[in-house]
Amino acid sequence: MTSQAYDIVVIGGGPAGAMAAWDAARAGHAVLIVDRGGRIKPCGGAIPPRALTEFELPESLLAARAHCARMISPAGRAVDMPIDGYVGMVDREHFDEWLRERAAGAGATRCTARFRRLAYQDDGRVVLSLEGADRDLADEIVARCVIGADGARSEVARQAIPAARDIPYVAAYHEIVESPAPSANPDFDGQRCDVYYQGRVSPDFYGWIFPHGGQTSVGVGTAVKGFSMRSAVADLRARAGLADGRTIRREGAPIPLKTLRRWDDGRAVVLAGDAAGGVAPASGEGIYYAMLSGRLAAEAAMAYCESGRSRALARARKRFMRAHGRVFWILGQMQRFWYVSDKRRERFVNICRDPDVQHLTWEAYMHKRLVRARPLAHIRIFFKDMGHLLGVVSQK
Ligand SMILES: Cc1cc2nc3c(=O)[nH]c(=O)nc-3n(C[C@H](O)[C@H](O)[C@H](O)COP(=O)(O)OP(=O)(O)OC[C@H]3O[C@@H](n4cnc5c(N)ncnc54)[C@H](O)[C@@H]3O)c2cc1C
Repeated sequence: MTSQAYDIVVIGGGPAGAMAAWDAARAGHAVLIVDRGGRIKPCGGAIPPRALTEFELPESLLAARAHCARMISPAGRAVDMPIDGYVGMVDREHFDEWLRERAAGAGATRCTARFRRLAYQDDGRVVLSLEGADRDLADEIVARCVIGADGARSEVARQAIPAARDIPYVAAYHEIVESPAPSANPDFDGQRCDVYYQGRVSPDFYGWIFPHGGQTSVGVGTAVKGFSMRSAVADLRARAGLADGRTIRREGAPIPLKTLRRWDDGRAVVLAGDAAGGVAPASGEGIYYAMLSGRLAAEAAMAYCESGRSRALARARKRFMRAHGRVFWILGQMQRFWYVSDKRRERFVNICRDPDVQHLTWEAYMHKRLVRARPLAHIRIFFKDMGHLLGVVSQK
């Protein structure tokens, strides 16, 4: 029986895993990155430009830039939120592959295979069982540390951290359609993201139309069982004049709604990205957070490899939550409050007209932090929010 040992084995080659593998490999660790392959991750592909600078991504990875978000209310009111800068749009087919190749270029060994099981040896190292590998691997893969970055409903998480089985999800479904020529559909704007807050589109989340150059993602999310996401997307396509465009792909995937309370198993496994539930509530934004948590998981794994102390693994979540826990909490409250009825959605979209709200929303999205410098704006928004809640502010 042959055996191959690595410092760190990363399961999953999406943004979280590829980022973790890149960081650990360029720090000189022996890294194996395993992805099952064969499927493009269903995703709207919107990322803040900050991701480009923070994670050293070339602008060539952007398929398009959006300069405005249009919020559409249940009554059909449209509120434009111009973006000071842009929101980047990536195609996951090319984006993820570029990230995996970058990790390989830094020295990580890439392997297409499906992770099946992990078990601990007496010496605290982890033995991994993989299936269908596309390259010659030893019979036994042994790791000092494992990073579980295998996405929503992670198998690594299910085996290492029992609470992962209870993460709540929204189901998301989208259709990738050919973008129309500007002359064929004057209502379609290839530089604008449309977000539908309407119960008929989604009873508890939202629907979207995100342009990616030649292709456009039209999708919806919901946690309500039995709600027909296909019909909702068909409805969106019809309303946006995209019903007759060629459909390139139809696909769906879950989006985790809650960050796990533990990302490590107290021994040698740490999670990152969707596997850890690290997605922003209310928006479902996960790419930036997956990359960041991949980076933090790699740092924690490297510290563990150096010190042998399992406690080092807990630092990944601690650092992530210190930076983003408050924003996630606020977004969670927003989702619980605003996404429950058309009456509230109408008010929510109305609030988005407010220049202070627009400024703070984009600041938070772009810079991934709450703006502390303008306390007066927060106070104004608080009173305006109360006004909207109580119905004393007109909806025009
Ligand atoms: C429809 C939809 C739209 C979205 N839109 C946006 C958006 O516009 N902007 C945004 O920021 N976020 C969006 N998200 C969320 C975002 O896609 C995720 O948060 C992000 O992809 C998480 O990255 P990850 O690396 O943790 O997981 P993933 O991207 O899911 O990657 C996990 C990887 O693990 C691999 N894998 C899984 N199981 C195994 C196994 N057993 N063995 C080996 N490999 C395995 C998979 O092949 C995959 O490559 C959207 C999600 C959905 C479903």
